[in-house]
Amino acid sequence: MNAYLNFNFSFVRNQFVNFLFRSKSKRTISLFDGISYNLKNNISTKNNFLTANSKSLAYFKSPYDSDLNVILKKKGSILFGGLSMDEFAMGSYSKNSHKLPVKNPLNFNLAVGGSSGGSCSSVVSNQILFSVGSDTGGSIRQPAYMCGIIGFKPSYGIFSRYGLISFGSSIDQLGLASKSITIICHLSHLLNKFNFKDYNYIKKTINFKVKDFKGSLYKKKFGFLVGLKKSKSNLLVNYFKLTYRLSFFLKNLGHKVGVIKLPLDYFLPYIYYVISSVEAFSNLSRFDNTKIGQFFTNKSKTLKLPFNSYISLCRGYNLGLEVKKRILIGNLFSYTTSILFFTNLLLKLNLVKKDLFKRYEFLVYPTYEEINLLNKNVKFKYSINNYFSDRFTVFSNIINLSSINIPFKTVRNDTPVGFQIISNTYNDFRLLKNSIYIKNMFNINIGV
Ligand code: GLN
Repeated sequence: MNAYLNFNFSFVRNQFVNFLFRSKSKRTISLFDGISYNLKNNISTKNNFLTANSKSLAYFKSPYDSDLNVILKKKGSILFGGLSMDEFAMGSYSKNSHKLPVKNPLNFNLAVGGSSGGSCSSVVSNQILFSVGSDTGGSIRQPAYMCGIIGFKPSYGIFSRYGLISFGSSIDQLGLASKSITIICHLSHLLNKFNFKDYNYIKKTINFKVKDFKGSLYKKKFGFLVGLKKSKSNLLVNYFKLTYRLSFFLKNLGHKVGVIKLPLDYFLPYIYYVISSVEAFSNLSRFDNTKIGQFFTNKSKTLKLPFNSYISLCRGYNLGLEVKKRILIGNLFSYTTSILFFTNLLLKLNLVKKDLFKRYEFLVYPTYEEINLLNKNVKFKYSINNYFSDRFTVFSNIINLSSINIPFKTVRNDTPVGFQIISNTYNDFRLLKNSIYIKNMFNINIGV
């Protein structure tokens, strides 16, 4: 499946031997002791390769551990390897890189989604119980949808991002992928408890107790929002079928159900790509082949060049097409006055957010347009059209909401179906609690 970029056998074996030793002497440390996990290859692990699937970091070994690793190490978890992704997490199909694209274990004809494609494919193929990825514009929820697993993106700052290679620093977030909602809840609880080196870290206790897993939900307290502005072509057939049933299901249980339209729907990808590219343009400037970056070895060619030409030659060689495109977009928008236009849109979006969450506590939203399901439909490689497949996920990142992809079974052969549940900023605990309930109660064979 091309899911791994980096797997170090002796590193895994040492952790495993330590675990066996602990468990034999009955000194296991925690619930997570001995549980194995994988990391997207843009999250650092001390002395292991950290490449973000880019040529420019091909031989780079991280000198330190990410906060996440420190926490999980203390709890005795076993780290397996670094997973494949789009180069610097830029993409929606795990295909933007100089390596082979990740395949979807459910069905090789299906796209795997991205950029955390490796994280989700290793979970769905039962290699691992959970994986950690990153989510700047939907990178954990999209592949989770495509692989039929759960993908959780918390509010900004809920988990420490220290050790994650920055893409769009103001919207980047760690994301969790697993088949089990219970694992996601325990993990969120764990990761929200510690604070190390991320200045944006916010401690909003995600504090699960045993009774929270039993799935009782107080009736009428939650207003669910179902439906959305009709898409131009009928790209969301399964989503509408599924949420139609969900709305009745919830109504019968006494919850309030309503329909929303998002007025600025069409502009969301534009806003996202401007913000993320401007930030990426500045964040990636450090991969310039001087301090960090693969050293361009052709000395006869490079030594006599002026500094600027040297940098552009090396970056031209080291970075992929998509990354270069983002750098150009970022460069352009950091100079133009249209930034005012986008600021205005952002202000409007915040008003929309206020209004929405005054009326409802949760929003039910699609994750992916169904046309993007098949690999053969992804023919706009390197084109701007690809960016519109993110229109349902970038919303949560831009205005900082927490959201989760909930998958369901289908009768039709292995075609994934699911939806996102989105909740207000820092409402993560209730979102997770509510997701346990929906996942467990509504988990019938839906047959869309
Ligand atoms: N698909 C989006 C992009 O290409 C999101 C990527 C991400 O969340 N890391 O930027």
